[in-house]
Amino acid sequence: MASVVQDPRLRALTFALTDEVLRFTAARRAARRFRSIVREVGVPPSLGLRDRLLLHAGAALAPVVPWIVMPMVRARLVRESNGVVLSADDPAFARHAQARARQGFQLNVNVLGEAILSDAEAAHRMAMIRERLARPDVDYVSLKISAVVANLDVLAFDHSVDRICSGLRVLYRDAEASTPRTFVNLDMEEYRDLSLTIAALTRVLAEPEFLAVDAGVVLQAYLPDSLAACEQLCCWAATRHAAAGGRLKIRVVKGANLAMERVEAELHGWQQAPYTTKTAADANFKRLVTLALSDRFADSVRVGFASHNLFDLAWALDLPASDRLDIEMLEGMAPAQARTMLAAAGQVLLYAPVVRPDDLAASIAYLTRRLDENTAPDNFLRALFTLQPDSVDWAEQQQRFESAMAAVESVQAGSRRTQDRSLPAVAVGVDSFENCADTDWTQAANRRWIARELAEVTVPEVVLTDTVDGVDRLVANAVAAAGPWGSRTYADRRSILAAVADELERNRGRTLALMARTACKTIGEGDPEVSEAIDFARYYAWCTHALEARVAAGQSFRPDGVVLVASPWNFPFAIPAGGVFAALAAGNTVILKPAPEVRAVAFELAQQLWRAGVPRDVLQFVACPDDEVGRRLVTHDDVATVVLTGAYETAAMFRSWKPSIRVLAETSGKNALVITAAADEDAAIRDLVRSAFGHAGQKCSAASLVILEAAVYDDKQFLRRLADAVRSVRVGAADDLSTMSGPLVGEPSPKLLRALTALEPGERWLVEPVCLDSARHVWSPGVRLGVQAGSWFHLTECFGPVLGVMRARDLDHAIELQNSGELGLTGGIHSLDEAEIERWLDQVEVGNAYINRHITGAVVRRQPFGGWKRSSVGCGPKAGGPFYVEAFGTWSSAPPIAGSEPDFRAAWNDYFTLDHDPSALACERNVLRFRPLPAVRLHVAADADPLLVEIAELARKVSGVPDGGDRVRVIGTVNDAQLAQWFARGWDVDRTPPVSDPMVELRHWVREQAISWTRHRHGRLLD
Ligand SMILES: Cc1cc2nc3c(=O)[nH]c(=O)nc-3n(C[C@H](O)[C@H](O)[C@H](O)COP(=O)(O)OP(=O)(O)OC[C@H]3O[C@@H](n4cnc5c(N)ncnc54)[C@H](O)[C@@H]3O)c2cc1C
Repeated sequence: MASVVQDPRLRALTFALTDEVLRFTAARRAARRFRSIVREVGVPPSLGLRDRLLLHAGAALAPVVPWIVMPMVRARLVRESNGVVLSADDPAFARHAQARARQGFQLNVNVLGEAILSDAEAAHRMAMIRERLARPDVDYVSLKISAVVANLDVLAFDHSVDRICSGLRVLYRDAEASTPRTFVNLDMEEYRDLSLTIAALTRVLAEPEFLAVDAGVVLQAYLPDSLAACEQLCCWAATRHAAAGGRLKIRVVKGANLAMERVEAELHGWQQAPYTTKTAADANFKRLVTLALSDRFADSVRVGFASHNLFDLAWALDLPASDRLDIEMLEGMAPAQARTMLAAAGQVLLYAPVVRPDDLAASIAYLTRRLDENTAPDNFLRALFTLQPDSVDWAEQQQRFESAMAAVESVQAGSRRTQDRSLPAVAVGVDSFENCADTDWTQAANRRWIARELAEVTVPEVVLTDTVDGVDRLVANAVAAAGPWGSRTYADRRSILAAVADELERNRGRTLALMARTACKTIGEGDPEVSEAIDFARYYAWCTHALEARVAAGQSFRPDGVVLVASPWNFPFAIPAGGVFAALAAGNTVILKPAPEVRAVAFELAQQLWRAGVPRDVLQFVACPDDEVGRRLVTHDDVATVVLTGAYETAAMFRSWKPSIRVLAETSGKNALVITAAADEDAAIRDLVRSAFGHAGQKCSAASLVILEAAVYDDKQFLRRLADAVRSVRVGAADDLSTMSGPLVGEPSPKLLRALTALEPGERWLVEPVCLDSARHVWSPGVRLGVQAGSWFHLTECFGPVLGVMRARDLDHAIELQNSGELGLTGGIHSLDEAEIERWLDQVEVGNAYINRHITGAVVRRQPFGGWKRSSVGCGPKAGGPFYVEAFGTWSSAPPIAGSEPDFRAAWNDYFTLDHDPSALACERNVLRFRPLPAVRLHVAADADPLLVEIAELARKVSGVPDGGDRVRVIGTVNDAQLAQWFARGWDVDRTPPVSDPMVELRHWVREQAISWTRHRHGRLLD
């Protein structure tokens, strides 16, 4: 351990071998990865000569004789982890328990296992814990609630607590019935489980059956919230003890989930729950211990003092009430110190994680967490191996201890997470941009707030416009308003959009409730959607700073005029908001026509805009039927641009009505997630289920296919885990907080019905979907196994809760399957092998590429959204990206082209060939990059300006885009017949006039790709 702490290379090697090589079941595959890891990391100098030679030889020989080398590597890794994670099987476990008892240690057993992804896995873990409880050589067991209950959700607080309570009753009963009687302790891991754990514990232990039971719980000192929790628990324990004698033990720890808490906070825009300094955590640790040991609770509360910090331990031994205090340490972390403490304190409780020998992967998260803890710069264990009295390290640790002691009384006591949606939202400007925070459901105030909103929401009446005359009047209003709105200053429009964003935030609760009541959107799914809408308003307003600067520099930008936003039902708030805000920011007037199913939500959006100061003729709302009235609107000569989110066929239909129509459309997707043998199985299944069945699979970005590398596909355990996880998805009403997957927005379309009910040759149901209501809106999720290359389900978008599983020979085959077909919206890969990821990134043909994460839920600026191939129509830029606003107008500039080539080359090299990550998160890399289009045809019309042709040719030359393909760049005028011919061939047409500004022109020769790549392992940052 000392070498791991001190040698960064050994540390990197240990992390990589534990996290990656152990996962492979196939020896050959493990061998290849083993060799590449040794090559990438190098042989650590701190290893002894024998180990260095063995590592060299092993890496060289592994691919040749993997069946000999890899078991040796595995055995060595298991041996190295042996002291920290124990075998759950006898005789090893029994022997260990006996040996510890002989030495005078008490054991606290924690059954490790894979992440709990399903009810079946929770039941299995429960059975394993009960098995421990029944053993005569086990009298102390620890578990975390998320190990025995799947899919806990703090938003569905009461439902979650009920489920935890059911589990706890079983465990307490078993523990009381066992001989010897076994003590059960609830560990604490994630901040979001704190209030759930306390609520369940205090509820069950207050029931008559359990009133006399002694039980334990953990509090994490790095959470300022723990002080109030400690006070609450101790007072509760005192009352309970007085009533029936049961006592509570509080194990005080500092907290081991710091890294993941930071990740969670960064992704959602929250304050991190733990303190930001170790001094504060150390100080709170002492404050909690002191509080729990106070005389008030002398009869009712014991304290577990869990630390390896010798300064803290020495302090503990001197405490006046130390007879109520148990020293607790972790098996294998600091054995010599544990022996010393045993001698000094007379007792030490050793926390002993156990795992089945054939399930070593299950202990990876625990092992990496321990490795992290031992190597983190501020932590005591890092110093332990070199600590000598009077050394520099000693002085540092002493100073840390003294600072913490000095801060005990003053360290912050209230929670760092204080978001309260019921308070008035604070106005935010648009001179800079930051994503707004999602709702923090850990806060009780927010849970009360949404319950109130759901109870109070009313659905607005929407008046139908069902005549052509009515539509004409709307368009005439929009035309009349376009001039004044377009000539307002950018600053003016920015301030209105800023006010819009604030108004949307103020109405978040009502919008969520309305979506849940009328658009089948659960609160959990709806909240990020409202955040996205708010971000759109602020981001597009912010983007106009760049636009304005370019105008100030002499270019001219002309808004399109009247924009029609024809929005879909699956994102009834954010998608219309995005289209409307971008068009408004660019200086257009807008008519918003939502899908009939979700008119109430779009009308609510319009009202929020009007209240915020958008004039009623600048944004008009229309509820019109999708018949000749709707067609009139779409094809109206005074409507300059139609923004559509819908099926490719709908975009094609619009164009068939009127070829010269300008459509900017986000269209269909048939999205696949690839899972290779190098994936973290727990994370892959979790992300797959979320991607496939969130919002009942009705997101454009939803995973409709999973392509498994053969070794994964053939692994029965993987398929069983996937099936169990899918069966555990709770399906129900959208306004029921415990629903994970809501209803369909209507009856299934014929395509979806086929997908839900009929298999094709070679397929079988891994999980058969079931219709759960007479209206045929509610379906349990389904999984089709054995989807064949080129089959109907492989290539058809079905848009619902059904997932197809395909088998790929290897990664190249997987990419081939993923790229087949005409669509290219989103796609993902799960693999821990960076070489595989790079290969995938080079070849995958999607607009949004996701790595080691779920493939839905694009966030403004972080992951601009939009597809390749037929997933996008109209050659527009990505929504939520830097160029979207400019798609709603035309640049013109015609300065001489002579001498421009260097400018074009510079722009190409300095911008278009680079990766851009303006969000710069630590835990996730979010890159926008540009790929030259595969080919473009230039159509030079008779009236084309030769200068513009020259510009286009220059852009082609610099970008290297060849002639041909299915995109046409038009220079000059084309007629409808010509356009119709191109569309009939499935070509897309870019009619934007070329401009001499390379930053504008070169965009027409590239396609944008947004890559979102998880860059942490269990919170440990990878960059
Ligand atoms: C028997 C036992 C049981 C445990 N059970 C749990 C449990 O149920 N849940 C759990 O979360 N942990 C648990 N832990 C782990 C514990 O929380 C600590 O991570 C670990 O003990 C290290 O703390 P220390 O006092 O030994 O070392 P120290 O080095 O003194 O403290 C390290 C700790 O300080 C905190 N810290 C470091 N830097 C910062 C910073 N910048 N800001 C805020 N805090 C910082 C971290 O929590 C870190 O783990 C347990 C530990 C033991 C010994």
